Amino acid sequence: MMATMLIDLDHLLANPIYDATRCSIGFHPLHTLFPIIIYLVACFIPKTRYIGIGLIIHMLLDSIDCQMTNGIWFT
Ligand SMILES: [Zn+2]
Repeated sequence: MMATMLIDLDHLLANPIYDATRCSIGFHPLHTLFPIIIYLVACFIPKTRYIGIGLIIHMLLDSIDCQMTNGIWFT
C-alpha cells in the first residue's frame, strides 16, 4: 500500500507544487486517462491488485477534491 504513495511524487513535478484551484486529474502525467486504465487493469491482476486499488482510490480522492473546489471531475 505504501507504494501507492509514490504516485504523489508526480504532484511534486508540478509547479507550483500545490494549487488548490488546480485539478490533479488530467494535469499530472500519472493522473491522466492512459495511466488510470493501467491502474484499473492492475486491480484485476492478483500480484498488483493492492497497488491498483490504492492508485484508483488515490485518483478518486483527487477527483473528489477537484469536484469540491472546482465543480469539475477532471481537467
Ligand atoms: Zn494525486
